Amino acid sequence: TRRAAAAGSDRATMATPTPMRSLHVAVIGAGAAGLAAARELRREGHSPVVFERGAGIGGTWIYEPPAETEDDGHSSMYESLRTNLPREVMGFLDFPFAAVPGSLDARRFPRHEEVLRYIHEFARRFDLSGLVRFRAEVTAVVRVLQDGRWTVRWRNKAAAAAGGGGGGGAAADDAGEAGEEEQEEAYDAVVVCNGHYTKPRIADIPGVDAWPGKQIHSHSYRLPDPFHDQVVVIIGAKNSGGDISREIAGVAREVHMANRASPAATCERLPGYHNLWLRSMVERADPDGSVVFRDGSSVRADVIMHCTGYKYSFPFLDQQQGRIISVHDNRIHPLYKHVFVPQLAPSLAFIGLPFKVIPFPMAQLQASWVAGALSGRVQLPSEEEMMEDVRALYAELEAMGWPVRYTHCLKHNQFEYDDWLADQSGHAKVEEWRKSMYDAASKKKVECPETYREEWDDHDLMDQANQDFQKYYC
Ligand code: FAD
Repeated sequence: TRRAAAAGSDRATMATPTPMRSLHVAVIGAGAAGLAAARELRREGHSPVVFERGAGIGGTWIYEPPAETEDDGHSSMYESLRTNLPREVMGFLDFPFAAVPGSLDARRFPRHEEVLRYIHEFARRFDLSGLVRFRAEVTAVVRVLQDGRWTVRWRNKAAAAAGGGGGGGAAADDAGEAGEEEQEEAYDAVVVCNGHYTKPRIADIPGVDAWPGKQIHSHSYRLPDPFHDQVVVIIGAKNSGGDISREIAGVAREVHMANRASPAATCERLPGYHNLWLRSMVERADPDGSVVFRDGSSVRADVIMHCTGYKYSFPFLDQQQGRIISVHDNRIHPLYKHVFVPQLAPSLAFIGLPFKVIPFPMAQLQASWVAGALSGRVQLPSEEEMMEDVRALYAELEAMGWPVRYTHCLKHNQFEYDDWLADQSGHAKVEEWRKSMYDAASKKKVECPETYREEWDDHDLMDQANQDFQKYYC
Protein backbone atom coordinates (compact mmCIF):
# COMPACT_ATOMS: atom_id res chain seq x y z
CA THR A 1 0.00 0.00 0.00
CA ARG A 2 2.90 2.34 0.66
CA ARG A 3 4.19 1.88 -2.86
CA ALA A 4 0.75 2.36 -4.39
CA ALA A 5 0.54 5.67 -2.59
CA ALA A 6 3.37 7.07 -4.67
CA ALA A 7 1.16 7.62 -7.69
CA GLY A 8 -0.54 10.57 -6.02
CA SER A 9 -0.79 12.52 -2.82
CA ASP A 10 -0.46 10.15 0.13
CA ARG A 11 -3.50 11.72 1.67
CA ALA A 12 -5.60 11.13 -1.40
CA THR A 13 -4.67 7.60 -2.32
CA MET A 14 -3.53 5.68 0.71
CA ALA A 15 -5.80 3.82 3.04
CA THR A 16 -5.41 5.93 6.17
CA PRO A 17 -3.69 3.95 8.93
CA THR A 18 -5.28 4.03 12.33
CA PRO A 19 -2.63 5.58 14.51
CA MET A 20 -2.48 4.78 18.17
CA ARG A 21 -1.36 8.35 18.80
CA SER A 22 -1.73 11.32 16.53
CA LEU A 23 0.71 14.02 17.52
CA HIS A 24 1.38 17.66 16.76
CA VAL A 25 4.98 17.57 15.52
CA ALA A 26 7.42 20.39 14.78
CA VAL A 27 9.86 19.61 11.97
CA ILE A 28 12.90 21.89 11.73
CA GLY A 29 14.04 22.40 8.14
CA ALA A 30 12.46 21.98 4.71
CA GLY A 31 15.31 20.30 2.88
CA ALA A 32 15.03 16.76 1.54
CA ALA A 33 15.02 15.33 5.08
CA GLY A 34 12.40 17.71 6.46
CA LEU A 35 10.09 17.08 3.52
CA ALA A 36 10.52 13.31 3.84
CA ALA A 37 9.72 13.68 7.54
CA ALA A 38 6.62 15.75 6.87
CA ARG A 39 5.39 13.20 4.38
CA GLU A 40 5.92 10.18 6.65
CA LEU A 41 4.51 11.94 9.71
CA ARG A 42 1.33 12.89 7.92
CA ARG A 43 1.07 9.43 6.39
CA GLU A 44 1.13 8.03 9.89
CA GLY A 45 -1.69 10.32 10.98
CA HIS A 46 0.30 13.03 12.77
CA SER A 47 0.00 16.75 12.11
CA PRO A 48 3.44 18.14 11.22
CA VAL A 49 4.39 21.81 10.94
CA VAL A 50 7.67 22.42 9.11
CA PHE A 51 9.73 25.46 10.12
CA GLU A 52 12.04 26.73 7.41
CA ARG A 53 14.27 29.71 7.97
CA GLY A 54 14.69 30.33 4.24
CA ALA A 55 12.15 31.45 1.67
CA GLY A 56 11.88 28.14 -0.19
CA ILE A 57 12.13 24.38 0.08
CA GLY A 58 15.23 22.43 -0.94
CA GLY A 59 17.90 23.38 1.64
CA THR A 60 21.33 22.47 0.27
CA TRP A 61 20.03 22.52 -3.29
CA ILE A 62 19.13 26.20 -3.33
CA TYR A 63 22.00 27.96 -5.06
CA GLU A 64 22.60 31.49 -3.82
CA PRO A 65 24.79 33.75 -5.98
CA PRO A 66 27.86 35.39 -4.35
CA ALA A 67 26.15 38.68 -3.51
CA GLU A 68 23.50 36.88 -1.49
CA THR A 69 25.70 34.68 0.64
CA GLU A 70 26.92 36.99 3.38
CA ASP A 71 25.02 35.37 6.22
CA ASP A 72 26.27 32.10 7.62
CA GLY A 73 23.09 30.17 7.03
CA HIS A 74 23.35 30.09 3.25
CA SER A 75 23.64 26.78 1.43
CA SER A 76 27.01 25.40 0.35
CA MET A 77 26.03 24.95 -3.28
CA TYR A 78 28.38 26.32 -5.92
CA GLU A 79 27.41 27.38 -9.41
CA SER A 80 28.78 24.49 -11.44
CA LEU A 81 27.89 21.64 -9.06
CA ARG A 82 26.69 18.40 -10.55
CA THR A 83 25.60 15.46 -8.40
CA ASN A 84 28.19 12.90 -7.36
CA LEU A 85 25.61 10.10 -7.42
CA PRO A 86 23.68 8.87 -10.44
CA ARG A 87 20.13 10.17 -10.37
CA GLU A 88 18.59 6.67 -10.17
CA VAL A 89 20.46 6.07 -6.91
CA MET A 90 19.93 9.48 -5.40
CA GLY A 91 16.15 9.83 -5.51
CA PHE A 92 13.58 8.90 -2.88
CA LEU A 93 12.62 5.23 -2.83
CA ASP A 94 9.17 5.44 -4.38
CA PHE A 95 9.53 8.65 -6.35
CA PRO A 96 12.01 8.16 -9.21
CA PHE A 97 14.49 10.93 -9.92
CA ALA A 98 14.14 10.47 -13.65
CA ALA A 99 14.78 12.78 -16.58
CA VAL A 100 11.29 13.91 -17.60
CA PRO A 101 9.84 16.53 -19.93
CA GLY A 102 10.51 19.73 -18.00
CA SER A 103 13.81 18.50 -16.56
CA LEU A 104 16.38 21.28 -16.29
CA ASP A 105 19.26 18.89 -16.92
CA ALA A 106 18.49 15.44 -18.28
CA ARG A 107 21.97 14.04 -17.66
CA ARG A 108 22.52 11.12 -15.32
CA PHE A 109 24.62 13.28 -12.98
CA PRO A 110 22.67 16.51 -13.29
CA ARG A 111 23.35 20.04 -12.12
CA HIS A 112 21.94 21.30 -8.84
CA GLU A 113 18.94 23.04 -10.46
CA GLU A 114 17.62 19.67 -11.56
CA VAL A 115 17.83 18.29 -8.01
CA LEU A 116 15.93 21.31 -6.74
CA ARG A 117 13.31 20.78 -9.45
CA TYR A 118 12.96 17.17 -8.32
CA ILE A 119 12.54 18.19 -4.66
CA HIS A 120 9.85 20.69 -5.69
CA GLU A 121 8.14 17.96 -7.67
CA PHE A 122 8.28 15.65 -4.63
CA ALA A 123 6.68 18.37 -2.48
CA ARG A 124 4.03 19.04 -5.11
CA ARG A 125 3.18 15.38 -5.62
CA PHE A 126 2.74 14.72 -1.93
CA ASP A 127 1.17 18.07 -1.21
CA LEU A 128 3.78 19.14 1.33
CA SER A 129 4.36 22.85 0.73
CA GLY A 130 1.27 23.83 2.68
CA LEU A 131 2.84 22.30 5.78
CA VAL A 132 5.84 24.63 5.62
CA ARG A 133 6.19 27.99 7.36
CA PHE A 134 8.78 29.94 5.43
CA ARG A 135 11.18 32.51 6.88
CA ALA A 136 10.54 30.90 10.24
CA GLU A 137 13.84 30.25 12.01
CA VAL A 138 13.68 28.06 15.09
CA THR A 139 15.73 29.72 17.81
CA ALA A 140 15.01 27.48 20.80
CA VAL A 141 13.54 24.06 21.51
CA VAL A 142 12.82 23.58 25.19
CA ARG A 143 11.31 20.59 26.97
CA VAL A 144 8.50 21.43 29.33
CA LEU A 145 9.22 19.27 32.33
CA GLN A 146 5.67 19.22 33.65
CA ASP A 147 4.07 17.50 30.67
CA GLY A 148 7.02 16.34 28.53
CA ARG A 149 5.88 18.48 25.59
CA TRP A 150 8.14 20.91 23.75
CA THR A 151 8.12 24.64 23.39
CA VAL A 152 9.36 25.71 20.00
CA ARG A 153 10.49 29.28 19.79
CA TRP A 154 10.89 30.77 16.34
CA ARG A 155 11.72 34.03 14.67
CA ASN A 156 9.33 35.18 12.03
CA LYS A 157 11.45 36.82 9.36
CA ALA A 158 8.43 37.34 7.10
CA ALA A 159 6.95 39.60 9.75
CA ALA A 160 10.07 41.75 9.56
CA ALA A 161 9.69 42.13 5.81
CA ALA A 162 5.98 42.86 6.09
CA GLY A 163 6.37 45.11 9.09
CA GLY A 164 4.98 42.75 11.72
CA GLY A 165 2.23 40.16 12.28
CA GLY A 166 1.80 36.82 10.50
CA GLY A 167 2.72 33.25 11.20
CA GLY A 168 0.12 32.07 13.71
CA GLY A 169 0.72 31.05 17.28
CA ALA A 170 0.99 32.99 20.47
CA ALA A 171 2.90 36.20 19.86
CA ALA A 172 5.66 37.00 22.29
CA ASP A 173 7.34 39.94 20.72
CA ASP A 174 10.66 40.20 22.49
CA ALA A 175 12.84 39.69 19.46
CA GLY A 176 16.53 40.49 19.42
CA GLU A 177 16.76 41.92 15.92
CA ALA A 178 14.86 45.03 15.00
CA GLY A 179 11.60 44.30 13.21
CA GLU A 180 11.79 40.53 13.76
CA GLU A 181 9.22 38.87 15.83
CA GLU A 182 9.69 35.83 18.06
CA GLN A 183 6.86 33.52 18.83
CA GLU A 184 6.47 30.24 20.62
CA GLU A 185 4.20 27.25 20.34
CA ALA A 186 3.77 23.90 22.07
CA TYR A 187 4.37 20.59 20.28
CA ASP A 188 4.18 16.95 21.32
CA ALA A 189 7.38 16.09 19.48
CA VAL A 190 10.23 17.70 17.54
CA VAL A 191 12.00 16.26 14.51
CA VAL A 192 15.28 17.99 13.73
CA CYS A 193 16.15 18.10 10.01
CA ASN A 194 18.39 21.17 9.95
CA GLY A 195 21.12 19.71 7.70
CA HIS A 196 24.81 19.52 8.45
CA TYR A 197 26.53 21.26 5.58
CA THR A 198 26.54 24.90 6.62
CA LYS A 199 28.86 25.18 9.62
CA PRO A 200 32.41 24.98 8.21
CA ARG A 201 35.15 22.94 9.79
CA ILE A 202 38.53 24.61 9.33
CA ALA A 203 41.89 22.83 9.24
CA ASP A 204 44.19 23.80 12.05
CA ILE A 205 47.34 25.13 10.34
CA PRO A 206 50.24 26.20 12.55
CA GLY A 207 51.31 29.76 11.74
CA VAL A 208 48.25 30.65 9.71
CA ASP A 209 47.38 33.67 11.84
CA ALA A 210 50.53 35.45 10.67
CA TRP A 211 50.22 34.21 7.09
CA PRO A 212 49.23 37.15 4.85
CA GLY A 213 47.04 35.34 2.29
CA LYS A 214 43.30 34.87 2.13
CA GLN A 215 41.47 31.89 3.60
CA ILE A 216 38.04 30.69 2.61
CA HIS A 217 35.97 27.55 3.13
CA SER A 218 34.24 25.71 0.28
CA HIS A 219 30.98 26.73 2.00
CA SER A 220 31.54 30.20 0.52
CA TYR A 221 32.84 29.08 -2.87
CA ARG A 222 30.57 29.95 -5.78
CA LEU A 223 32.56 30.61 -8.97
CA PRO A 224 36.19 30.18 -10.10
CA ASP A 225 36.60 33.75 -11.47
CA PRO A 226 38.04 35.38 -8.31
CA PHE A 227 40.96 32.91 -8.43
CA HIS A 228 42.18 34.08 -11.83
CA ASP A 229 45.99 33.92 -11.98
CA GLN A 230 46.28 33.06 -8.28
CA VAL A 231 48.17 30.31 -6.48
CA VAL A 232 45.62 28.34 -4.51
CA VAL A 233 46.17 25.64 -1.90
CA ILE A 234 43.11 23.46 -1.47
CA ILE A 235 42.95 21.46 1.73
CA GLY A 236 40.97 18.25 1.27
CA ALA A 237 40.69 15.95 -1.73
CA LYS A 238 37.24 14.47 -1.33
CA ASN A 239 34.13 15.38 -3.35
CA SER A 240 34.27 19.18 -2.99
CA GLY A 241 38.09 19.42 -2.85
CA GLY A 242 38.49 17.33 -6.00
CA ASP A 243 35.78 19.06 -8.03
CA ILE A 244 36.66 22.61 -6.96
CA SER A 245 40.40 22.05 -7.58
CA ARG A 246 39.71 20.97 -11.12
CA GLU A 247 37.39 23.88 -11.73
CA ILE A 248 39.77 26.49 -10.32
CA ALA A 249 42.67 25.01 -12.30
CA GLY A 250 40.91 26.37 -15.40
CA VAL A 251 41.71 29.97 -14.35
CA ALA A 252 44.34 29.86 -11.58
CA ARG A 253 48.11 30.01 -12.04
CA GLU A 254 48.65 26.97 -9.80
CA VAL A 255 46.41 24.75 -7.68
CA HIS A 256 47.86 22.48 -4.99
CA MET A 257 45.44 19.97 -3.52
CA ALA A 258 46.67 18.85 -0.10
CA ASN A 259 45.40 15.47 1.01
CA ARG A 260 45.72 14.27 4.60
CA ALA A 261 45.74 10.65 3.42
CA SER A 262 48.66 11.11 0.98
CA PRO A 263 52.17 10.03 1.98
CA ALA A 264 54.54 12.86 2.96
CA ALA A 265 56.50 12.70 -0.30
CA THR A 266 53.44 13.16 -2.54
CA CYS A 267 53.87 15.84 -5.18
CA GLU A 268 52.37 14.72 -8.45
CA ARG A 269 50.95 16.75 -11.29
CA LEU A 270 47.52 15.39 -12.18
CA PRO A 271 47.17 14.01 -15.71
CA GLY A 272 45.54 16.42 -18.16
CA TYR A 273 46.56 19.55 -16.20
CA HIS A 274 49.65 21.77 -16.42
CA ASN A 275 48.91 23.52 -13.11
CA LEU A 276 47.18 21.08 -10.73
CA TRP A 277 49.18 19.09 -8.17
CA LEU A 278 48.27 16.52 -5.56
CA ARG A 279 50.32 17.16 -2.41
CA SER A 280 50.71 15.83 1.11
CA MET A 281 49.04 17.68 3.97
CA VAL A 282 49.99 21.26 4.80
CA GLU A 283 52.38 21.39 7.76
CA ARG A 284 52.44 25.13 8.41
CA ALA A 285 52.02 28.58 6.91
CA ASP A 286 54.75 31.24 7.18
CA PRO A 287 54.59 35.04 7.45
CA ASP A 288 56.35 35.42 4.06
CA GLY A 289 53.32 33.88 2.33
CA SER A 290 54.70 30.35 2.02
CA VAL A 291 52.59 27.30 2.64
CA VAL A 292 54.77 24.35 3.63
CA PHE A 293 53.84 20.71 2.96
CA ARG A 294 54.80 17.64 4.95
CA ASP A 295 57.76 16.84 2.70
CA GLY A 296 59.27 20.28 3.47
CA SER A 297 58.54 21.74 0.04
CA SER A 298 56.56 24.97 -0.14
CA VAL A 299 54.64 27.32 -2.43
CA ARG A 300 53.92 31.03 -2.14
CA ALA A 301 50.16 30.99 -2.11
CA ASP A 302 47.51 33.69 -2.41
CA VAL A 303 44.64 31.61 -1.06
CA ILE A 304 44.05 28.62 1.20
CA MET A 305 40.68 27.04 0.59
CA HIS A 306 39.43 24.65 3.26
CA CYS A 307 37.44 21.82 1.71
CA THR A 308 37.47 20.13 5.06
CA GLY A 309 33.84 19.42 5.70
CA TYR A 310 31.34 20.67 8.19
CA LYS A 311 30.33 20.46 11.85
CA TYR A 312 27.06 19.35 13.32
CA SER A 313 25.36 22.28 14.94
CA PHE A 314 22.09 22.67 16.81
CA PRO A 315 22.09 26.26 18.09
CA PHE A 316 18.43 26.02 19.08
CA LEU A 317 19.31 23.26 21.56
CA ASP A 318 22.28 25.15 23.00
CA GLN A 319 20.59 26.26 26.17
CA GLN A 320 20.06 22.63 27.03
CA GLN A 321 23.31 21.15 25.73
CA GLY A 322 24.57 18.75 28.31
CA ARG A 323 21.02 18.04 29.37
CA ILE A 324 19.82 16.86 25.92
CA ILE A 325 22.82 16.16 23.69
CA SER A 326 26.45 17.09 23.44
CA VAL A 327 28.52 17.51 20.28
CA HIS A 328 32.23 16.82 20.68
CA ASP A 329 34.53 16.18 17.75
CA ASN A 330 31.44 15.74 15.57
CA ARG A 331 29.99 13.01 17.77
CA ILE A 332 26.42 13.74 18.80
CA HIS A 333 25.88 12.03 22.12
CA PRO A 334 23.81 10.09 22.96
CA LEU A 335 21.88 9.05 19.85
CA TYR A 336 20.31 5.64 19.39
CA LYS A 337 20.83 4.57 15.77
CA HIS A 338 21.76 8.19 14.93
CA VAL A 339 18.14 9.24 15.47
CA PHE A 340 16.76 9.15 19.03
CA VAL A 341 18.01 10.57 22.31
CA PRO A 342 17.32 7.52 24.54
CA GLN A 343 16.08 9.53 27.49
CA LEU A 344 13.63 11.50 25.36
CA ALA A 345 12.64 8.97 22.70
CA PRO A 346 10.59 9.18 20.66
CA SER A 347 9.61 12.79 21.27
CA LEU A 348 12.91 14.23 19.98
CA ALA A 349 14.39 12.80 16.79
CA PHE A 350 17.12 13.73 14.30
CA ILE A 351 16.88 12.88 10.62
CA GLY A 352 19.63 12.97 8.02
CA LEU A 353 22.71 12.99 10.29
CA PRO A 354 24.80 10.05 9.00
CA PHE A 355 27.30 10.74 6.22
CA LYS A 356 28.84 8.64 3.44
CA VAL A 357 25.33 7.53 2.59
CA ILE A 358 22.64 8.04 -0.02
CA PRO A 359 20.86 10.83 1.84
CA PHE A 360 17.33 10.95 0.40
CA PRO A 361 16.33 7.26 0.83
CA MET A 362 17.99 7.09 4.23
CA ALA A 363 16.05 10.15 5.42
CA GLN A 364 12.86 8.55 4.14
CA LEU A 365 13.49 5.34 6.10
CA GLN A 366 14.48 7.20 9.26
CA ALA A 367 11.36 9.35 8.92
CA SER A 368 9.15 6.30 8.57
CA TRP A 369 10.69 4.81 11.72
CA VAL A 370 10.26 8.06 13.67
CA ALA A 371 6.64 8.47 12.53
CA GLY A 372 5.87 4.87 13.56
CA ALA A 373 7.56 5.25 16.93
CA LEU A 374 5.61 8.44 17.63
CA SER A 375 2.27 6.84 16.82
CA GLY A 376 3.07 3.75 18.87
CA ARG A 377 2.93 1.44 15.84
CA VAL A 378 6.66 0.78 16.21
CA GLN A 379 8.10 -0.20 19.58
CA LEU A 380 11.45 1.16 20.73
CA PRO A 381 13.74 -0.61 23.21
CA SER A 382 13.96 0.67 26.76
CA GLU A 383 16.12 3.70 27.53
CA GLU A 384 18.76 1.45 29.09
CA GLU A 385 18.82 -0.85 26.04
CA MET A 386 19.22 2.13 23.73
CA MET A 387 22.08 3.48 25.84
CA GLU A 388 23.69 0.05 25.77
CA ASP A 389 23.49 0.12 21.95
CA VAL A 390 25.14 3.55 21.90
CA ARG A 391 27.97 2.30 24.12
CA ALA A 392 28.37 -0.79 21.93
CA LEU A 393 28.73 1.42 18.85
CA TYR A 394 31.43 3.50 20.51
CA ALA A 395 33.30 0.37 21.55
CA GLU A 396 33.06 -1.01 18.01
CA LEU A 397 34.40 2.23 16.50
CA GLU A 398 37.26 2.27 18.95
CA ALA A 399 38.11 -1.35 18.18
CA MET A 400 38.22 -0.46 14.47
CA GLY A 401 40.55 2.43 15.24
CA TRP A 402 38.10 5.00 13.91
CA PRO A 403 38.34 8.54 15.26
CA VAL A 404 35.41 9.92 17.26
CA ARG A 405 34.51 12.28 14.41
CA TYR A 406 33.50 9.25 12.28
CA THR A 407 30.77 8.22 14.74
CA HIS A 408 28.03 9.04 12.22
CA CYS A 409 29.94 7.79 9.17
CA LEU A 410 28.21 4.82 7.55
CA LYS A 411 30.84 4.14 4.93
CA HIS A 412 30.81 0.39 5.59
CA ASN A 413 27.27 -0.33 6.66
CA GLN A 414 24.76 2.12 5.24
CA PHE A 415 22.69 -0.57 3.53
CA GLU A 416 22.67 -2.74 6.63
CA TYR A 417 21.43 0.33 8.49
CA ASP A 418 18.81 1.14 5.82
CA ASP A 419 17.53 -2.45 5.85
CA TRP A 420 17.32 -2.37 9.63
CA LEU A 421 15.26 0.84 9.47
CA ALA A 422 12.99 -0.69 6.85
CA ASP A 423 12.47 -3.78 9.02
CA GLN A 424 11.65 -1.67 12.05
CA SER A 425 9.26 0.66 10.26
CA GLY A 426 7.66 -1.72 7.77
CA HIS A 427 8.80 0.48 4.89
CA ALA A 428 9.93 -0.98 1.55
CA LYS A 429 13.67 -1.65 1.47
CA VAL A 430 16.39 -0.08 -0.63
CA GLU A 431 16.36 -2.01 -3.91
CA GLU A 432 19.25 -4.38 -4.67
CA TRP A 433 19.95 -2.63 -7.98
CA ARG A 434 20.36 0.68 -6.09
CA LYS A 435 22.89 -0.82 -3.71
CA SER A 436 24.91 -2.31 -6.58
CA MET A 437 24.67 0.90 -8.57
CA TYR A 438 25.93 2.93 -5.61
CA ASP A 439 28.90 0.60 -5.22
CA ALA A 440 29.67 0.75 -8.94
CA ALA A 441 29.42 4.55 -9.04
CA SER A 442 31.60 4.96 -5.93
CA LYS A 443 34.29 2.75 -7.45
CA LYS A 444 34.13 4.57 -10.77
CA LYS A 445 34.44 7.96 -9.03
CA VAL A 446 37.71 6.90 -7.42
CA GLU A 447 39.08 5.29 -10.58
CA CYS A 448 38.03 8.00 -13.03
CA PRO A 449 37.38 11.25 -11.13
CA GLU A 450 37.49 13.25 -14.37
CA THR A 451 35.03 11.20 -16.37
CA TYR A 452 32.77 9.21 -14.06
CA ARG A 453 29.87 11.57 -14.68
CA GLU A 454 30.02 10.97 -18.44
CA GLU A 455 31.10 7.35 -18.86
CA TRP A 456 29.79 4.28 -17.07
CA ASP A 457 29.32 0.60 -17.59
CA ASP A 458 26.41 -0.33 -15.31
CA HIS A 459 23.85 -0.44 -18.12
CA ASP A 460 22.24 -3.61 -16.79
CA LEU A 461 21.57 -1.89 -13.46
CA MET A 462 20.14 1.15 -15.25
CA ASP A 463 17.77 -1.17 -17.09
CA GLN A 464 16.67 -2.74 -13.81
CA ALA A 465 16.15 0.69 -12.26
CA ASN A 466 14.10 1.96 -15.18
CA GLN A 467 12.01 -1.18 -15.17
CA ASP A 468 11.44 -0.81 -11.45
CA PHE A 469 10.48 2.85 -11.84
CA GLN A 470 7.64 1.95 -14.21
CA LYS A 471 5.43 0.99 -11.30
CA TYR A 472 5.55 4.53 -9.94
CA TYR A 473 4.46 6.26 -13.11
CA CYS A 474 0.79 7.05 -13.48
P1 FAD B 1 19.57 20.55 4.07
O1 FAD B 1 19.36 20.38 2.64
O2 FAD B 1 20.76 21.32 4.52
O3 FAD B 1 18.26 21.26 4.66
C1 FAD B 1 18.21 21.76 5.97
C2 FAD B 1 17.17 22.88 6.01
O4 FAD B 1 16.98 23.28 7.36
C3 FAD B 1 17.58 24.11 5.24
O5 FAD B 1 16.56 24.48 4.36
C4 FAD B 1 17.81 25.17 6.32
O6 FAD B 1 17.48 26.47 5.90
C5 FAD B 1 16.85 24.69 7.40
N1 FAD B 1 17.21 25.12 8.75
C6 FAD B 1 18.41 24.98 9.37
N2 FAD B 1 18.36 25.49 10.61
C7 FAD B 1 17.08 25.95 10.78
C8 FAD B 1 16.41 26.58 11.85
N3 FAD B 1 17.03 26.84 13.01
N4 FAD B 1 15.11 26.92 11.69
C9 FAD B 1 14.46 26.65 10.54
N5 FAD B 1 15.06 26.07 9.47
C10 FAD B 1 16.36 25.72 9.60
N6 FAD B 1 23.69 14.47 -1.73
C11 FAD B 1 23.37 13.63 -2.75
O7 FAD B 1 22.52 12.76 -2.61
N7 FAD B 1 23.99 13.76 -3.98
C12 FAD B 1 24.90 14.73 -4.23
O8 FAD B 1 25.42 14.81 -5.32
C13 FAD B 1 25.23 15.65 -3.17
N8 FAD B 1 26.09 16.66 -3.38
C14 FAD B 1 26.29 17.58 -2.38
C15 FAD B 1 27.12 18.67 -2.63
C16 FAD B 1 27.35 19.62 -1.66
C17 FAD B 1 28.22 20.80 -1.94
C18 FAD B 1 26.74 19.47 -0.38
C19 FAD B 1 26.97 20.49 0.69
C20 FAD B 1 25.93 18.39 -0.12
C21 FAD B 1 25.70 17.43 -1.11
N9 FAD B 1 24.86 16.34 -0.89
C22 FAD B 1 24.58 15.46 -1.91
C23 FAD B 1 24.28 16.11 0.44
C24 FAD B 1 22.99 16.93 0.63
O9 FAD B 1 23.21 17.76 1.70
C25 FAD B 1 21.81 16.02 0.82
O10 FAD B 1 21.51 15.48 -0.44
C26 FAD B 1 20.51 16.66 1.31
O11 FAD B 1 20.24 17.80 0.57
C27 FAD B 1 20.49 16.93 2.79
O12 FAD B 1 19.19 17.34 3.12
P2 FAD B 1 18.79 17.83 4.56
O13 FAD B 1 17.35 18.13 4.50
O14 FAD B 1 19.28 16.88 5.56
O15 FAD B 1 19.62 19.17 4.82
